[in-house]
Amino acid sequence: MDTTIQVNYVEGFTQQHLIKANQAVQLVQDLVNSNAFKEAVLDVRKFKNPRIRRRTGRRKYSNQEILDLILGGRDLNNPADQIMNFRLRLYDSEVNEIGNTNMTTLIISTYRGYLENHAVGCYAAHLLHEYMHTIGFTHSRFDVFGRDRTVPYKIGQIARDLLGAAC
Ligand SMILES: [Zn+2]
Repeated sequence: MDTTIQVNYVEGFTQQHLIKANQAVQLVQDLVNSNAFKEAVLDVRKFKNPRIRRRTGRRKYSNQEILDLILGGRDLNNPADQIMNFRLRLYDSEVNEIGNTNMTTLIISTYRGYLENHAVGCYAAHLLHEYMHTIGFTHSRFDVFGRDRTVPYKIGQIARDLLGAAC
């Protein structure tokens, strides 16, 4: 059974933004269901800190388990229903940043300029990075050594590579 994405909440999007966001959501949905994506996740040699916050037993998750969490749509506190729930928000910012995820509301916030100024594949990869937070994976706020091998960064990189997005 394929995994689907449901957008449950949007805030701050114009009609133009929504068109691009819907394209990005479709890209993510097609991507996660592709064999190329599944193989790329299973082929990652070593994720850094593949642990989940706020779920019982803060053990390390295997590549297969990480893939299953994604495809199962295991947003925090949600069952594995094969539905990835996206809550999306755009905001204005003075600083150069992409966005973040609120771990309580699970709303993915994105700097409006990032959506406007980058290819749709870049926004798609960003959404998938942030989705890794909604299923419980974290990383340092700072650009420490190895951060690019954490689950959110690595999955985001896989998405950019497979979508051919230069961001
Ligand atoms: Zn992140």
